[in-house]
Amino acid sequence: MRIILTKPNILILLLGAIFVSAFLTALPVVAEAPQSTLGLRVQTAETHAKITPEVALTLLKEGNQRFVSGKMYKRDLRKKALITSKGQYPYAAIVGCIDSRASHELLFDAGIGDIFSARVAGNFANTDILGSLEFATAIADAKLIVVLGHSECGAIKGACDNLKMGNLTHTLSNIAPAIYSVEGFEGKRNSKNKAFVDAVAHANVELTVEHIVEASPIIKALSDKRQLMVVGAMLDIVTGKVTFMEPS
Ligand SMILES: [Zn+2]
Repeated sequence: MRIILTKPNILILLLGAIFVSAFLTALPVVAEAPQSTLGLRVQTAETHAKITPEVALTLLKEGNQRFVSGKMYKRDLRKKALITSKGQYPYAAIVGCIDSRASHELLFDAGIGDIFSARVAGNFANTDILGSLEFATAIADAKLIVVLGHSECGAIKGACDNLKMGNLTHTLSNIAPAIYSVEGFEGKRNSKNKAFVDAVAHANVELTVEHIVEASPIIKALSDKRQLMVVGAMLDIVTGKVTFMEPS
């Protein structure tokens, strides 16, 4: 059919264009980010089957890069909550400090249903944390355990100063092995010495990684079969950057 551009026809076309434009403008903005990578999706049995320990580590590294650069994904968290209510398939379990600046989901730009999160002052692994990690990996099939320490940690500083207070005394006693492991250090062995505090925080992560594998035959078996990776990491609370250590 041939359209003749008479004045009335041009008017109709213009009105049509204005109508379509107004309709598109009125559509709600889609908050969910495009589903281009595994990390963006709601984790399902199908996506989970494709995740190896190495892929899980990459997902966390990419997420932290987005956080550091301020380019976090937009997510419809309520929609994710609804979908994951039918079942969860997280790819990683993170043991971190309770510090208000060390929220795992924020630091790794992760969504609901993406990671297990265990937090205790000083990020150590006692029996309850070990049990939680065994649930996360042997039962829920998370592929990666991360022990995440951080700079300026109040728990590490308290332990370095041999702080005694209520139940916190027992909590901080879990960091004592890390303090003893830092030997031959210049300067005072207390919280005033930033280099010493940083060394203890780093040692605490390394010892916790070792302890998790040694104290849990279940986790060690998964690790030996390369179905699970256990790795330490340190967060710089100034930049938000997480630096991963060599996997165990
Ligand atoms: Zn801390």
